[in-house]
Amino acid sequence: MILIGGGLAGLQALDLLRRRGFDARLYEASDRVGGRIYSLRSSSAGGLVAEAGAERIRPAHLRVLGLARQLGITPVLYPPPQNPYLLSINGGEYRFRTPEDIPGTPLEGLSEAEKRGVPSVHLELAAEAPPVADDDSRTAWQWLKDNGMTAAGEVYVRAFAPFPLDRLPARCFQRYALAERRALGQVKTLSGGVDTLTEGLAQRHPGHITRGFKAVSITQRADQVVVRAANGTTVSAPLAVICLPVPVLKSLAFEGGTPKALADRIAGLGIEQEIKIGVEVAGAAFSGSNAPEMAFRPEFPRVVWPSPRRLDDGCRVLNMMAVNEDVPLVAAAANGGVQGITALLEPRLPRLMPHARQILFHDFSADPLAGGAWTWPKNGAPPPKGLIRSGRLVFAGSDLSAYPGWMEGALASAEAAVATLG
Ligand SMILES: Cc1cc2nc3c(=O)[nH]c(=O)nc-3n(C[C@H](O)[C@H](O)[C@H](O)COP(=O)(O)OP(=O)(O)OC[C@H]3O[C@@H](n4cnc5c(N)ncnc54)[C@H](O)[C@@H]3O)c2cc1C
Repeated sequence: MILIGGGLAGLQALDLLRRRGFDARLYEASDRVGGRIYSLRSSSAGGLVAEAGAERIRPAHLRVLGLARQLGITPVLYPPPQNPYLLSINGGEYRFRTPEDIPGTPLEGLSEAEKRGVPSVHLELAAEAPPVADDDSRTAWQWLKDNGMTAAGEVYVRAFAPFPLDRLPARCFQRYALAERRALGQVKTLSGGVDTLTEGLAQRHPGHITRGFKAVSITQRADQVVVRAANGTTVSAPLAVICLPVPVLKSLAFEGGTPKALADRIAGLGIEQEIKIGVEVAGAAFSGSNAPEMAFRPEFPRVVWPSPRRLDDGCRVLNMMAVNEDVPLVAAAANGGVQGITALLEPRLPRLMPHARQILFHDFSADPLAGGAWTWPKNGAPPPKGLIRSGRLVFAGSDLSAYPGWMEGALASAEAAVATLG
């Protein structure tokens, strides 16, 4: 059996298949496994980590937590920042420790529900509203307006709801927002790097992973699947599990055409972009509450948050994320590499950037092996149901799972793929 794609889904499927006694081999295009799990390590002594991709583990992500336990890795909560949070909005700056501390001005014009959620007012709006029916055709934005979002609330929702609100179906949005709200304060990460999951899996099967094999075409024969790589080499087996992101699946040449079930699913999926930037900041920045470790504002960088690990001298990595309309801005800056990103951040973070030691990022939107961050069902498309099987091919991976955008979806799809193979 062959597996194509060495991200979390492919590696987990390899592990499960080999434990069940199957002769399985995985082929990965890059010289690195992990895919959209990509932990960037700073050159500082003590080794701080910035996650370019997957980072957050919710309490409901039992498969991810279980895998970490199996590999002997202990997830950690994000510790509360040492300095108060900073909210910069409508020209004012407000410091607070809990939402109840926020002074009146930034709350003006908000409804009671919205005030409770500041700055993430979309979470409270989603919780207040009645459940969205499965056949509701409204977008998240229209639905929020119909459910009492005020003009003042719109500013917060646009800034802090990390979704394509004009395109995402209301039912998906409410599900995502409720899950996010339930997980508040309980989200964990792996402070030694999320890639300890994928590296841990890969280390179990060193002789069964081939790197540098970039699949470009797939042919189904009577008794075999033949996969051809960009360098002309081919591999074949009676069955293949394809664990690739949607943009890569779209670029593959299938002899006889893309399987219909796959083409139908892909047609109903939108691709979302996200770029994360990690700035390693010297401890001096935080003395006297000068630069807060956690900050919110309506323009990029909308949220700044610290990684859990801190060096003895207080040095730590602060993270920022660009989604939706901020992505083109950051992608353009990323063309200039670290200097371009530094130039983008300097005027926006005047208290922080003089203390920046190193900038770590990876642009998945421009990475041909990813082509984006995650997928979501377009408005009007049926909710994704998980695995697709077509002849000798099984398609797995987070993007095609019922839980796209999360490591949990990648693991669920790997389990389902292995179950269907017997
Ligand atoms: C910026 C960002 C933030 C995220 N944040 C979170 C988070 O906080 N929490 C969370 O749970 N999830 C998060 N995710 C999602 C999570 O990273 C993914 O859902 C998950 O890692 C996807 O795993 P996968 O195996 O399905 O796909 P991938 O990780 O994309 O793996 C696919 C693999 O296939 C390889 N490949 C590509 N093309 C070819 C080819 N032609 N031939 C052979 N191999 C190929 C790739 O190199 C890659 O290794 C985030 C993702 C991104 C991008």
